[in-house]
Amino acid sequence: MEDFFACTLVVENRSSISEALKVVEEICDLVSRRPPEEGKTHKSPDEFCFDDLRLYVKLKASDQLPPTPLDDLIFEIQIKTFLQHAWSIATHDLVYKGQNVDWGRARVAYQIKAMLEHAEISVERVDAMAESSLLAVTDEKIRKLKAVIDWLRRTWDGEWLPKDMVRLAENIIAMCQAISVELDDIFECVRLRSFLLTKDQQSAIDQQFIATLESLIELVWDCACKRPKTSKAPNKGVSLNAQRRHGFCRFCGNLTEFSVFIETPNQMSDVEPKEPKDSSTHKRFQLSHQFCSEHRPKLESNEWNPAYRQALRSQDQFDLELSRLSKQCAKPATPQVKSGNKLVDSYYFYYVSNLTLQPADKAELRKQARLMADWKLSDRKKQILMLQWSGLNQSDIAQKLGTTRQAVSKALASIPAMFRLCQKPRSRRQPK
Ligand SMILES: [Zn+2]
Repeated sequence: MEDFFACTLVVENRSSISEALKVVEEICDLVSRRPPEEGKTHKSPDEFCFDDLRLYVKLKASDQLPPTPLDDLIFEIQIKTFLQHAWSIATHDLVYKGQNVDWGRARVAYQIKAMLEHAEISVERVDAMAESSLLAVTDEKIRKLKAVIDWLRRTWDGEWLPKDMVRLAENIIAMCQAISVELDDIFECVRLRSFLLTKDQQSAIDQQFIATLESLIELVWDCACKRPKTSKAPNKGVSLNAQRRHGFCRFCGNLTEFSVFIETPNQMSDVEPKEPKDSSTHKRFQLSHQFCSEHRPKLESNEWNPAYRQALRSQDQFDLELSRLSKQCAKPATPQVKSGNKLVDSYYFYYVSNLTLQPADKAELRKQARLMADWKLSDRKKQILMLQWSGLNQSDIAQKLGTTRQAVSKALASIPAMFRLCQKPRSRRQPK
C-alpha cells in the first residue's frame, strides 16, 4: 500500500533536488525510487509524460520510540521543482480529471510540459546561454548601467557599496539626466576620490594633489566671500548702493552703524520722521559708514570716543594681525605667516588650527585681530606662548629669548587665557 500517505517537496530548481534528497534520506530509509536511478529515464526523447522524482520510503527506526505499525509502511515523496509543480496544478484537470477523454486537451497539457522543461533548462543554464553569440549585444540602457557599475567598483571598495548595485546605478543615471550632466564628467570629477583613499607619503604627486586641493578650497572660500552686485534694501522706499552696505567697522568685526541699519528690516517706521526737520532724521544721516557704534569717533555727547582713539593707535597691529590670521586660515595645513620669526609663525599655525575658522568668516577673523590688538599681544608674547606650549619653563624661555625670567613671568601674567595654545592642534599636520 504505497498511497496511504504521500507528500510533495517543492524545490527552487533542478540543482536543489539533490539537497532535498539528502534531507529525506536523513529521516527515512529509501526503499525504491522512480526513475530508478539518476541519469536514467524510461521516456523516449519524443515523450513528455509525467516522470518527476518519486521516492518510496519508510520511517527510520528509532531507539527512543516504541515500535508502531507505521514502521513498516511505505509512503511516497515526490520531489519537484517550482515549474514542475506549477504544471501539475495548472494541468491536473486536463490530464487526469477531465469529464471526457480528450486528445486535444491532453496534447496541450504536454505541450506546456515540454515548454516548461525547456524553461527549466534555460533557467539553470542562463549564464552559459547568455554567452551565445546571438545574445552578444547590448542596448544603451544596459551599456550605461554597466559603465556606472564598473566605475563604482573601480572607485570604491566593495564594503562601501550597496547590495543592489543596479538600483544605485539607475539612481546615478537619473540624477545625471536631471542635472544635465554627462556620466563621463561625473566619473572624471570623482576620479579625485581615489587620491583621497591613498596615504599621504609626501611624494611629488601627493604634494601636487594637496596643493591643488588647497587652491580649490581657497577659490571656493573666495567665492563665498564675494558679495552680490545688487541687493535689495529691506526697508521700503530706501534705495541704497548695495555694494556699500556690507561694510565692516574699520577696527573690528562688527558691521558699521550704516550697515546695521540696512541689515535690520522694518525700522523705517521708527526712524521715518513725521516732520522733515525732526532730530531723528538728522541722526539717520549721521550713521557712520566706517565704524560700528562702539568705535564711532564721537560719542552722542559730541566728545571723542576713547575706544575710537585706542583703536586708531593700534590700527597697524590690527591690520597686521588680520592679514596674518587670514593667510593662516586660507591654508591651515602648514604655517603661512612669514613674520621672519619661526616661533611667531608657529604660534599662528597652532592658534588658528584650534579655531574652527575659514577665510569666509571675516567677522570672526576681524574680531580675533581686534582682541590681539586690544590686548597688545606682541610678537614677543607670541614667542613666549609658543615656547611655553612646547614645554619650556620660564627660566628656559628667558634664556632662549635673551631676557630675564621676571620679564617672561610678567609677560605671561598679562596674557589672557584665550591666547594660550591648546594641548594639540586637531588633525593638522605639524610644521617641520
Ligand atoms: Zn568696531
